[in-house]
Amino acid sequence: MKTALVCGAGGFISGHLVKRLKKEGYWVRGVDIKKHEFAPSAADEFRQLDLREPENCVQALTLPDGKFDEVYQLAADMGGMGFIHSAECDIMHNSALINIHLTHNASRLGIPRYFFSSSVCVYRDMQPGEPEMTEAQAIPANPDNEYGWEKLYSERIAMAYARNQGMTVRIARFQNCYGPEGTWRGGREKAPAAICRKVAEVEDGGTIEVWGDGTAIRSYTYVDDMVDGIYRLMHSDLEGAVNIGNPEYVSVNELVSAVAEIAHKRIDIRHIKGPVGVQSRNFSNERIYTTGWKATFPLMAGIEKTYPWIEAQVKAMKVASN
Ligand code: NAD
Repeated sequence: MKTALVCGAGGFISGHLVKRLKKEGYWVRGVDIKKHEFAPSAADEFRQLDLREPENCVQALTLPDGKFDEVYQLAADMGGMGFIHSAECDIMHNSALINIHLTHNASRLGIPRYFFSSSVCVYRDMQPGEPEMTEAQAIPANPDNEYGWEKLYSERIAMAYARNQGMTVRIARFQNCYGPEGTWRGGREKAPAAICRKVAEVEDGGTIEVWGDGTAIRSYTYVDDMVDGIYRLMHSDLEGAVNIGNPEYVSVNELVSAVAEIAHKRIDIRHIKGPVGVQSRNFSNERIYTTGWKATFPLMAGIEKTYPWIEAQVKAMKVASN
């Protein structure tokens, strides 16, 4: 039986990744600084550890007999734009420490295959209509936020260990990921979850507040597709960073319309000042397509699965507070 360590298993994407690895027949250890908020871990073993500490990384990476076949590193101090712009020092300090200690110790302990979750935040801003950007065009670098700079640095740590210590490393640059069992309130939620929550909270005909003018262009990848991309990339021979994202690009206003349609509500938008991030995105997926991967959930299909879950959380929260 193959063994896998999933770091960040108390979080959104890792929670789904653990389920996928279990389906594939792996023995899985999950590690996180906190337990999963919404679902019990599907991992065979879950350890609550702070991965900023090198000795905790060693503990996480060590099996009583033999070593892990695969390590998936998704632990990060992260959140949506609001968090990214208000917690720059936490991101630069905490996520960098996790990646420095995990990569170093994974290599030292002879882990054969190591996955690192990077982000398209490593790229510069784009103008609407610009041709697709390839992975190589992240350099010369000009990310819009510190989260992107930390990811770029941690990609380079992983690649340095791959070059110098012989560890096989796979690096994905995720576009925005969404789906059930992800953070939906509290300040770390990302745009799709925040918009689903706001729509669920208002009556038909209500108004929701949206940061910025609503014209920023993004693509949103449903979590099952993202996990499939991670799995395929990990088992491919693709070296260097690889973009993973749904090629369907929409404005924030269009995202609100999609959620409103699924919720069967007429929604007005009040645009307010807030951290918006970059204006536009358009990335090449040619590298991940060579693994046979493609996005199977168009935005509407993904929102159809996500909105009811967030609506149920909102209702449960209301009941609990009454
Ligand atoms: P998440 O916040 O749900 O999961 C990250 C997990 O890391 C959390 O459970 C958190 O508790 C854990 N963590 C933080 N500090 C830790 C520490 N010191 N020790 C141990 N665990 C710690 O985020 P997610 O959306 O599941 O993202 C997973 C990975 O994918 C992250 O690296 C993130 O940067 C990257 N990513 C996500 C997206 C997205 O849209 N969700 C986009 C691009 C990249």
